[in-house]
Amino acid sequence: MGIVAQKFGGTSVGDATKIQRAARRAIRTQLMGNDVIMVVSAMGKTTDHLVDLAAQISHDPPKREMDMLLTTGEQVSISLMAMAIHEAGHEAISFTGGQVGMITDAYHTKARIQRVDTDRLKEHLKAGKIVIVAGFQGVTEEGAITTLGRGGSDTTAVALAAAVQADVCEIYTDVDGVYTTDPRIVPEAHKVDQVTYDEMLELAALGAGVMHSRAIEFGSKYSVPIHVRSSLTDVPGTMIMHETAGMEDVVVRGVALKRDLAAVVLIGVPNEPGMASKVFGQIAEQNIVVDDIIQSIYEDGKRANVGFTVASSDLSEAKALGDRLSREFGFRGVEVDEGVAKVSIVGIGMRSHTGVAAKMFDALYAADINIEHISTSEIVVSCVVRQEDGEKALKALHTTFGLDKNQGNEG
Ligand code: ADP
Ligand code: ASP
Ligand code: MG
Repeated sequence: MGIVAQKFGGTSVGDATKIQRAARRAIRTQLMGNDVIMVVSAMGKTTDHLVDLAAQISHDPPKREMDMLLTTGEQVSISLMAMAIHEAGHEAISFTGGQVGMITDAYHTKARIQRVDTDRLKEHLKAGKIVIVAGFQGVTEEGAITTLGRGGSDTTAVALAAAVQADVCEIYTDVDGVYTTDPRIVPEAHKVDQVTYDEMLELAALGAGVMHSRAIEFGSKYSVPIHVRSSLTDVPGTMIMHETAGMEDVVVRGVALKRDLAAVVLIGVPNEPGMASKVFGQIAEQNIVVDDIIQSIYEDGKRANVGFTVASSDLSEAKALGDRLSREFGFRGVEVDEGVAKVSIVGIGMRSHTGVAAKMFDALYAADINIEHISTSEIVVSCVVRQEDGEKALKALHTTFGLDKNQGNEG
């Protein structure tokens, strides 16, 4: 007897039959003696369609209203899921994020969970019901509806699993686990049986769309075992977990590509103490996530160009902020480059192996790809390249680090 959290992504609840299939899985899990919490995404491409609809009305829709709009998608799927369970003769109740006590900050469209009040949830679990929660949404202390960023249902699921100390958080999706890279881009990619939280966090943050990176942060912090698996089969998927002996033997666990990046360069920044703090403090205040920062100093040390990359979706805000800072602090201008992408290799094995970065640069050279800049951490090496070179770079690295299926690495 335990608590199992099960999250079903958009494709896993894409039509009535799939909703019924997910409902049966939850019922089966409950019949095995578990309390079951389901977290459900909007059906199929509903969220994309809502985004398109908003774009037809406004170039820059108010973020509060975007949240109001997008959360409707999940409200459809949770109610249908509850009906499917009732129809099968079992008890279920659906809740919006607000109803279930998912309290967030007020950064609309990318809110962060601040706390989860689980009283209501626990009460219904205790009464023997399957509790169905709308993914990706929350509410501020003041009652405003928020969303956690695209793909955020994973985070809802892991946060709830953490809050009730679930035995496992199962992420049901349209692939049978976490692959060495996106199998849609590199068909030679293969499923990995295990990946550490640290590796998955990096992979997710660096472009592996299979999991929302905030979900991994919760998983790691509260030690929630996460099982990524297929909603169509019973085949075991990938366990995301703390490191165990032997996991360091694999040098590169996976490679990732982040395509939707833009570089912003602040030109002629006075090179004086406190400037970086002022600039990046203001960027952080607007909740813009900065990827890499490069500073080059010139004019005998009097001026610097400060470049950083941001998600394309944050570019207009970052540019506007750059322009304002430029006027305030007397920079010479702001340049923007929308044509960049980032490829990364990730693996805890890098901690104990040398020459990994050099091998990466060789592979990119052999593929005739220019590296625009490089960043490294203990378990990651990333290179910014032209956007049009991104997929080629990803494939080259996947092969170079022995990750292709036919290289005998499956499993
Ligand atoms: P869901 O709607 O279930 O949340 P997503 O589309 O968010 O599904 O995530 C699943 C998709 O993630 C897969 O179809 C796959 O194309 C993509 N993906 C990207 N990187 C990886 C990876 N490393 N392993 C597995 N899938 C990946
Ligand atoms: N429905 C939301 C999206 O498409 C959240 C999710 O599916 O995780 O981004
Ligand atoms: Mg997803």
